[in-house]
Amino acid sequence: MGKNTRKLGPGRLIIASHNDGKVREINALVEPFLIEAVSAKKLGLIDPEETGLTFAENAILKAEAAATASNLPALADDSGLAVTALSGAPGIYSARWAGEPRDFTFAMEKVEKALKESGTEDYSARFICALCLAWPDGHKQVFEGEVCGRLVFPPRGNNGFGYDPIFMADGYDITFGEMDPDEKHSISHRADAFRKLTIGCLNG
Ligand code: IMP
Repeated sequence: MGKNTRKLGPGRLIIASHNDGKVREINALVEPFLIEAVSAKKLGLIDPEETGLTFAENAILKAEAAATASNLPALADDSGLAVTALSGAPGIYSARWAGEPRDFTFAMEKVEKALKESGTEDYSARFICALCLAWPDGHKQVFEGEVCGRLVFPPRGNNGFGYDPIFMADGYDITFGEMDPDEKHSISHRADAFRKLTIGCLNG
């Protein structure tokens, strides 16, 4: 084990997310290790502003804030879509490209328009997920996962969320919006990051 690695012991783990679905998914993953995932919402913790310039920086900001406020280990994630020909945009601004209130039909049109205006033929893109596990004493570990693919227009399929209807993972000819959710969850950027976290901080 490297000197920067620390295993997560039994007990409570704060999930720095207000999304109940995410907390349930994480709970299923950590339960076998006698870890109980508790949402930041349940503890009344407030999300910090996402002022980082990378996925990892934003995940660190959220995990450290929750670990400090709760005095317990905390896990946060940050994710989004990075389009090669748009220099990685929308990237950390993936949710913000959808405006307020969130409208992903609008966000996907914006991506299509930007690609058309750039004149590129390169429609490759990646979904990226950064996970940060932070302890109250300041120790932290970051794991990054990705899934590579390409964008297709018009959007296809009603499964998933966000940019799923325009993203086709390498080796597939259906979009994440058309894919069975269990299959998406097994190949996604989030699955990749969680596999790395499991190897780094849970097993052994
Ligand atoms: P967050 O990290 O959960 O806040 O997600 C940021 C944004 O990235 C979401 O609002 C989506 O727009 C986009 N995103 C992240 N993961 C996915 C995914 O698996 N499918 C589609 N869009 C995603």
